[in-house]
Amino acid sequence: MRTDLYQGHDYYLLDELLTEEHKLIRETAREWVKKEVSPIIEEAAEKCEFPRHLLSGLGEIGAFGPYIPAEYGGPGLDQVSYGIIMQELERCDSGLRSTASVQSSLVMYPIWRYGSEEHKKKYLSKLATGEMMGCFGLTEPDHGSNPGGMTTHFKEDGEDVILNGAKMWISNAPFADIAVVWAKNEEGRIQGVLVERGMEGFSTPTMHGKWSLRASDTGELIFDNVRVPKANILPGRDGLGAPLSCLDSARYGIAWGAIGAALDCYDTALRYAKERMQFDRPIGQFQLQQKKLAEMITEITKAQLLTYRLGQLRDEGKATSAQISMAKRNNVDMALTVARDARQMIGGMGITGEYPIMRHMMNLESVVTYEGTHDIHLLITGLDVTGLNAFV
Ligand SMILES: Cc1cc2nc3c(=O)[nH]c(=O)nc-3n(C[C@H](O)[C@H](O)[C@H](O)COP(=O)(O)OP(=O)(O)OC[C@H]3O[C@@H](n4cnc5c(N)ncnc54)[C@H](O)[C@@H]3O)c2cc1C
Repeated sequence: MRTDLYQGHDYYLLDELLTEEHKLIRETAREWVKKEVSPIIEEAAEKCEFPRHLLSGLGEIGAFGPYIPAEYGGPGLDQVSYGIIMQELERCDSGLRSTASVQSSLVMYPIWRYGSEEHKKKYLSKLATGEMMGCFGLTEPDHGSNPGGMTTHFKEDGEDVILNGAKMWISNAPFADIAVVWAKNEEGRIQGVLVERGMEGFSTPTMHGKWSLRASDTGELIFDNVRVPKANILPGRDGLGAPLSCLDSARYGIAWGAIGAALDCYDTALRYAKERMQFDRPIGQFQLQQKKLAEMITEITKAQLLTYRLGQLRDEGKATSAQISMAKRNNVDMALTVARDARQMIGGMGITGEYPIMRHMMNLESVVTYEGTHDIHLLITGLDVTGLNAFV
């Protein structure tokens, strides 16, 4: 087992912009990851299962709903803190970050923003500790980039609704206690429905055969005439804007997280370049290897600046969906490029589990696709700057 020697990299002294609390949060998350996750992450990825014993620890470091207020059992932190935690988790593995992102932005966030007071009291504090886990069902077999076309729907029946349909590619589904499911009502409006494990007709089969995000559990959600109390519908908002606002929060976390994966690849490649000898000198002395490292730290630094500013805008309530979309696309694309270059620098050993790079690279192939594909985010920026819709 390789020792986790990771050190942070801060080329533009961004730490000077962080508060003491931000730095403490980062140290706490980093130490926990190094002690509890780094030693087991390769094995979890090989086995293709999320290490569920980590859930309580994730709750303890504040990774579940970092910005949920203390009155509902959350840590009540700012958006920069949320980003910092996501970065430390993804520095280790995108699957680990995904588990926390889904719980925070796609389960706790909609309950907090759109749930009734009863929903908040019933679920949020248990979700914050990891005692209860959730998942988010938007994507369907025939509706991915176009979730508005969804066919999952419900009909009223007395005090209940009857839910039918199917979702796929749902992170955390195999072990989630509750699912925030987006479905159409009888008027065709999209609403969030809280479906609990154990409701008759509700099943969550695991999806197998992934070569990416292997340390995160992914499944389907199947609704076969599931009777759900009307009281489980999120009353605060309907329409596609509701799930999209959750995606804003999750994409913001991804923008920070992807930098973590890139930093780990850069850190590994930099150390290797100084130690690996070829032609009687360290490979880091060759100009072509230095070019790769120089480009990596330049792109990482640009992404760090972009993301820190986005965090400030989020904290001020000013960040637009299009700004978040740009950061998600840019940073994941950047991390993939860094991972591919770093992988080459490690030579043959770079394809093994001895180094984390190949795992990051494979993980990032999911991250570049989920929460809006790279191309869809290009279209979002295109629409934002031209005012012309190229989606359809
Ligand atoms: C590991 C993993 C975990 C996931 N977790 C979740 C989850 O927890 N909850 C959830 O709801 N979903 C989840 N997803 C689903 C994810 O969000 C979708 O895969 C993603 O939105 C893309 O949808 P799709 O796979 O159906 O691809 P499609 O929408 O079929 O797209 C296929 C290709 O066509 C392109 N394309 C589509 N429309 C256009 C257009 N108008 N113009 C140009 N190009 C276009 C896309 O960019 C893409 O390259 C997850 C996915 C993965 C892989």
